This record gives sequence, structure tokens and C-alpha cells, in this order.
Amino acid sequence: MHIIISGAGLAGSLMAIYLAKKGHKVDIYESRLDMRKATISAGRSINLALSARGLKALHEVGLELEILKGSVKMPGRMMHDKEGKTIFALYGKNEDEFINSISRADLNKILMTAAEKYPEVSIYFRKEIRTVDFDKKTLEVFDLDNGGTESLSADLIIGADGANSIIRRSMEKQIPDYQSRIDWLDHGYKELSIPPADGGGFRLERDALHIWPRSSYMLIALPNADGSFTCTLFYPNEGVESFAAMDNYDKFKKFMETEFPDAVPHMIDMEEEYHSNPVGKLGTLKCYPWKLGNAAVLVGDAAHAIVPFYGQGMNASFEDCQTLNECIDRNGDDWTKILEEYEALRKVNGDAIGDLAVENFYEMRDKVADPVFQRKRKLEHIIENRFANYRSKYALVTFSPDVPYTYAKSQGNKQDNYLMNLCRDIESVENLDVEKIYAELIKL
Ligand SMILES: Cc1cc2nc3c(=O)[nH]c(=O)nc-3n(C[C@H](O)[C@H](O)[C@H](O)COP(=O)(O)OP(=O)(O)OC[C@H]3O[C@@H](n4cnc5c(N)ncnc54)[C@H](O)[C@@H]3O)c2cc1C
Repeated sequence: MHIIISGAGLAGSLMAIYLAKKGHKVDIYESRLDMRKATISAGRSINLALSARGLKALHEVGLELEILKGSVKMPGRMMHDKEGKTIFALYGKNEDEFINSISRADLNKILMTAAEKYPEVSIYFRKEIRTVDFDKKTLEVFDLDNGGTESLSADLIIGADGANSIIRRSMEKQIPDYQSRIDWLDHGYKELSIPPADGGGFRLERDALHIWPRSSYMLIALPNADGSFTCTLFYPNEGVESFAAMDNYDKFKKFMETEFPDAVPHMIDMEEEYHSNPVGKLGTLKCYPWKLGNAAVLVGDAAHAIVPFYGQGMNASFEDCQTLNECIDRNGDDWTKILEEYEALRKVNGDAIGDLAVENFYEMRDKVADPVFQRKRKLEHIIENRFANYRSKYALVTFSPDVPYTYAKSQGNKQDNYLMNLCRDIESVENLDVEKIYAELIKL
């Protein structure tokens, strides 16, 4: 098969590796510069949380360990209140269950280099796919350097070109009643940073995802291996308290100093970052179908862009690639069947993690500082450690790559409702009959 992939981002590069391992010829067209050659400007490094689902997919192509080398473990979240007091809460049963903070650029570079090691894979940079004819399986590619246009053909077209995918938008034009909708969050985000301490080291606790929950908004910070932190402020786009209203640096600075007094002294470049980093939009994309006959298919954000509050967008994208690979294993050369099975398996899960991610936004923003929620987490932690079979919703999503997101959503929400109700009317979780609670939980 000759396969064209639109996009050499995280999903496109990993998908190419899976396909090359099967002997397919893969050409990837990427509109950006080759980030391995472009000089990286000093300063910010954007990071992502990589967890069990993504690691499982990377393990299958032998890249898990190389990628983890540059990561920082985050076994829990460190919550900061307005007085600067902190509370640490584990994500899993113990410190051995953690998520990994990893540089997006380094990860992408490793994946591209690993893909190019296969003679079957070529990546063409600064080439933007502009139009697609699925009947003829042809694409028009625009050269962003010389302005020329090239016509290409393939046996299969894979859209790994992110939330604004041209492959999806072309399907939308060609398939009658194509369903596609993006629900935008009222909140946007701005990236900020905390540099390494003078002389090296970390200015905040290294092994944690830091959160400053403030009810209708929040700041988070993820550590980088070089001692810096990538911070993200999630804040309403419009309204009295909003990015739109904070229209000059003095207002922004005052707000930050009032709300996040223990973080701001470390944000040495805050003024420059306020001016240079745009406010990003956040939305949940749901679309259907994800494929067109045996001609084209979507993977990653092209099929299911989600909000980042479960740290699962990339993990889900990697899981797409792994599932598509398994569908190929099961169905040989029957690409119509391969794509049908892939879509049936993944569409429901893409929707489920999209919903979970929005729910987690409200949990991180409003609930982590709530005493009922804190009691619930304490109780759940006791249950998780006492009964090996019990897994919290967070653990089902993050540490359980063998259960689908659909199960994590339905079971996790039932458990959460039960435990939140229980913890609402009690002062402490110390003297509860944990055996009885567990017996109720497994019946849900
Ligand atoms: C603020 C934020 C924080 C996040 N944090 C996490 C996290 O902690 N954990 C996690 O798992 N996920 C996280 N995500 C989600 C994650 O970034 C995405 O899910 C992931 O990047 C999806 O990978 P992708 O390859 O599908 O798309 P992308 O990474 O968007 O890659 C698409 C590629 O296609 C190229 N392209 C686009 N159009 C064309 C075209 N017409 N022709 C050629 N090339 C094209 C683009 O240049 C790009 O390189 C976060 C997202 C955001 C916004």
C-alpha cells in the first residue's frame, strides 16, 4: 500500500511507524518546518502529560523507554491556596503510579526520527495539503516555500492533521449529512513559565502537577527536566473577569499577584509572555464518520480534539494508532473492514474521553479545593489500597490502558456520585466501614 498521511505531529509520526513496520510505503506531508532543524528560540518548553495509554502504544513500537528518558514523574497534584499553603494528593495508589511530564517538541522529534529510520517513510516539510478528492484518492499539496502545487495519489489517505484537519473538512464536503461539531469552552488559556532556579534545580516541588484552583479559573504548572515549569492559566474568554477585560499588563499583573501570590515571584518572564503568548481556544470536537470507504481515515485530534483537563488528547491519539494497527492485524488486506472496525472501536471512546475531559475541568477548577471532594479522595485512596480490584475514575482513565474510555466514564461517574454523596454528610472518613462501602461500590 502507498499511504499518504496529512500531518507529522504526534499521531501522524507514530502511525507512520506502525505502518512502516508492516511494510507499507508512507509519505507524510507536514505544513510546518522540520522542528529538528529550525533554531529553537530560547525560553519556553511546552509539555504534556504522558500516561499509560500513550505509553502502551509507544511500547509496541519500542520507543517507550527512549521517550521516558526526558520526562519528569508526577505521582500527584500539589494544590496551592491563596495563602500559599499546599496540599499534595496522590493520583493513584502510591508513588509508583504516576503520569509523566514530557516536552511536546522532544517527543515529536523522537517520533519523526524513529519514523524516518524506516526506508518506507518520507516526511515532506512545508507542504500543506489543500484539497482532497476521495473518489480518485488524489490530493493537492501546496509548497509553502516556492508557492508551487503538486498533485499526489495514494491507496489510502490518513488525516492526522489536528483539530482543523483538512482531511476531515474535505470529508464534510463530500459526505452528505456529515456530522461535525465543536463545543467551545467559555475559557481560553495562556501559557506562562517558571525558569529553573539560579544555579539549577526547581523553584517548586519537582515531582507534582501544581494546581492553583480558584473556582471559576485556575493556574497549573508541569515540571520540565531542565528545572523549569510550563504554566497554563485557564480563564474565561469574555465577561467582567476575563482575558478580554484584562487588556493591559498592569491589570494582568495585579490579578496574578492577588490570586497566585506564591507562583508569581517565580514567573520571571511574565510580562514578556503576557504580550507574546496568545490566548488559546479550547473546544471538544465530535464528528462522524471517521472514515470514507477504504479511501481515508482520521486519527488523533483530527477525529476527536478534546479539552486538555484529563491530559489525554495525545494519549487517546496514540491509542487510535495502536487500535488501527490491531484492526490491520485482524483483517489483513480488507481495508474497508479495517476502517469500519477501527471506527466502531474508537468513535465511542473518542466521545467518552471528550466528555470526561470537560467534566474534569470542573473538577479541577471547582472541586479539588472543596472539603467534600478532599474527603472523597481520602476515602477512595483507602479503598484503592485495601482492595486491589477497585480503581478510581482517574485511575481507570489514566492508569488502566486495558479498559476502554467508555467504561472509565460510566463506571467512574457512578463511583464518584456514590462516594461524593457519602462524604457530603460526614466530618471525617476515619471510622467508616470500608468493607461495606467497597461491597456497595462493586455492585454499581
Ligand atoms: C494547552 C494544551 C495542553 C495539552 N496537554 C495534554 C496533555 O497533558 N496530555 C495529552 O495527552 N494531551 C494534551 N493535549 C492534547 C494534545 O496536544 C493533542 O491531543 C495532540 O497534539 C494531538 O496530536 P495530533 O497529531 O492528532 O495533532 P497535532 O499535534 O495538532 O498535529 C497535527 C499536525 O498536522 C499538521 N497539519 C495540519 N494541517 C495540515 C495540512 N493541511 N497539511 C499538512 N500538515 C498539516 C500540523 O502542522 C501538525 O504538525 C493538550 C492540548 C492543549 C491545547
